[in-house]
Amino acid sequence: MRVLVVEDDPGIATALVAHLGRLGDAVDTAGTLSQAWATLAAEPFELVLLDLGLPDGDGMELLRRIRAQPAGRMPDPALPVLVMTARDQVSARIAGLDLGADDYLTKPFDPDELAARMRALRRRATGRAQTRLAWGDIEVDPAAHTVLRGGQPVELSAREFSVLLALLEARPHVLSRAQIEARLYRFDEALESNAIEVHVHRLRRKLGEGLIRTVRGVGYFVPAEPSP
Ligand code: CA
Repeated sequence: MRVLVVEDDPGIATALVAHLGRLGDAVDTAGTLSQAWATLAAEPFELVLLDLGLPDGDGMELLRRIRAQPAGRMPDPALPVLVMTARDQVSARIAGLDLGADDYLTKPFDPDELAARMRALRRRATGRAQTRLAWGDIEVDPAAHTVLRGGQPVELSAREFSVLLALLEARPHVLSRAQIEARLYRFDEALESNAIEVHVHRLRRKLGEGLIRTVRGVGYFVPAEPSP
């Protein structure tokens, strides 16, 4: 998923980018409130990890501003926000949750716990209660990062996995190439113009031709159900 890490400690930010990158998330960072706002207003993110103590103010300010956005604007007022802070006082926690934080982690935290909480927020945001996604004989487990086809494990790269997850979560809606790219790539990553096509080609080879359909000139989609 596309994640913005708002964190002014370069050590923590770098560690988060590395850890989440390994899981296939596309992570950008912002070290100040103003940089975070500019980034969120420019690109569609799916989750914000928010530090509170920032050089130009309190992270709560950013949260308040996001939640006050009119619907349909960027950033989305319903954007999931996970607050991470060194403050472990109950009062800071309550204030954050009252302001509309979706979850809370006190630093230092276990990166695996963070990843699990992120998956839970993602499930909630996409309205899914179950943890696994199934389509025909294909079964995807976002937590374990595994894909089964007819019960047999299929090896996917982190990027292929992200493309598959994006399309399965959006089904039966079409995602444009730009929308898929936005989920996969950070601002500063150079992008081959045919990168998404290459991922889709490999996914079809590994998972069958019926799964991902092309809408010429528009994008790709996964049908609600496999054709009989
Ligand atoms: Ca800080």
